[in-house]
Amino acid sequence: MSEKRKITVAYGDGIGPEIMDATLRILDAAEAPLEYDEIKVGEQVYKSGISSGIEDSAWDSLRENKIFLKAPITTPQGGGYKSLNVTIRKTLGLYANVRPCRAYTPFVKSNFPKMNLTIVRENEEDLYAGIEHQQTEEVVQTLKLVSRPGIESIVRYAFEYARLNNRKKVTCMTKDNIMKQSDGLFHRVFNRVSEEYPNIEADHMIIDIGSAKLADNPESFDVVVTLNLYGDIISDIAAEVAGSVGLGGSSNVGQTVAMFEAIHGSAPDIAGKNIANPSGLLNGAIMMLVHLGETKLAEKIENAWLKTIEDGIHTGDVYEEGTSTALVGTKEFADAVIERLGQTPSTFKPVYYKEDADPIDTKHIPTTHYRTKTLVGVDVFIDWREHDRDANVIGQTLENAQGEALKLKMITNRGVKVYPSGFPETFKTDHWRCRYTAPAGSCSNKDVYDLLKRIDDAGLDFIKTEHLYEFDGVRGYSLGQGE
Ligand code: NAD
Repeated sequence: MSEKRKITVAYGDGIGPEIMDATLRILDAAEAPLEYDEIKVGEQVYKSGISSGIEDSAWDSLRENKIFLKAPITTPQGGGYKSLNVTIRKTLGLYANVRPCRAYTPFVKSNFPKMNLTIVRENEEDLYAGIEHQQTEEVVQTLKLVSRPGIESIVRYAFEYARLNNRKKVTCMTKDNIMKQSDGLFHRVFNRVSEEYPNIEADHMIIDIGSAKLADNPESFDVVVTLNLYGDIISDIAAEVAGSVGLGGSSNVGQTVAMFEAIHGSAPDIAGKNIANPSGLLNGAIMMLVHLGETKLAEKIENAWLKTIEDGIHTGDVYEEGTSTALVGTKEFADAVIERLGQTPSTFKPVYYKEDADPIDTKHIPTTHYRTKTLVGVDVFIDWREHDRDANVIGQTLENAQGEALKLKMITNRGVKVYPSGFPETFKTDHWRCRYTAPAGSCSNKDVYDLLKRIDDAGLDFIKTEHLYEFDGVRGYSLGQGE
């Protein structure tokens, strides 16, 4: 990067302006070849009546500059305001959330002195697609949608991150013992991609035990890759147990645009007092430099920052009698980092980034195509609460509605088989999943359509359908519990 590169910056709310000012002063003192294009986001934009928290004109800057350094913002309570982060992530396709969490003992207290891990969280899919419906009086649904290309991108990102940062292991966390389709696909893609990285150890943990281990023994993890919801939860666990919420930076990376920020929020309780720690945003800015290929500059700033921390020059949030040598404000902390540019830490290992590190690029994703997709049945969901919810009554009606091709196989309620031969103890809601199946190749959409007509004629209220397919002869749907 020889000439100056324009990036978009937002000073945010609360402590945002103070920590952004400190961060940009350090970048400038280190001669980062950057120019700043400021946009307004956050509280004042929300309060001007824009529920997304970002003005329309700001998108042009983000799309043109492609790199966004963002200070934390305050989300006003109530009033239908949308999360700015979610809007930016989704609009600009920022599919990877990367959050390094490490301890800085003995200078910053942590129960896990050797902890040094990075969470790579899928950012766009999973339950966060926000596709929700009330289907009956008693039952609502949230759709969990994941895609093979989405999974390929995030898994590949995690391995590329590990390769470029000299990491030794990538752990995948899913709940594929229960969600064999969605989480199962994530795990399978992880296994396949891991074969391309023989020098990096790959392992898998079920998310529940994985989270417990992360809280209990975080030092045993290196890079963790997981789906959106699990990643949201475990990245907070990891940041908390590292004991350095005020120090961590994070990135949200897409194919063309990337956003860098601090992990923490706008801390309105300490705003305007020159006491906030600017390290979280600075660490976000260091991740940005690595992303831009400015690895030497990233090393220079990170090593100066580590030296400042180990010299005991601390802001109030990490200051400790006996360990720290000076209690400083936001500005003075930035001055101390600037003074140390060019120095390396002696207790902490100096940081080194590969000089020829390419920005991570997961654009060329090989996708596997199936050859055959065969309709083998349909799940018809019905809203029904008559006859004391006796499954035999609805079962008989639905058997009478079956045609030549599609035969009633079973009915489940909340996933548990209740017909034929269910248990009277099983609790039943007003939401019935009725599975009709046919031998492969013997039914079509027309048969589904005719079946729905007969169900409607029988006076039952069908509320949705899901087709059952086999892909290359492999079942593409889950079995009911007890099927
Ligand atoms: P917070 O992270 O702002 O503050 C939690 C506690 O940590 C406070 O006591 C605060 O003083 C302290 N703290 C945080 N950062 C610090 C720093 N750099 N130096 C010293 N102390 C620091 O979390 P919160 O209070 O739950 O949220 C405040 C606002 O921030 C809310 O409006 C929330 O929506 C928003 N928020 C924004 C982002 C973002 O923009 N990415 C992220 C989280 C929260």
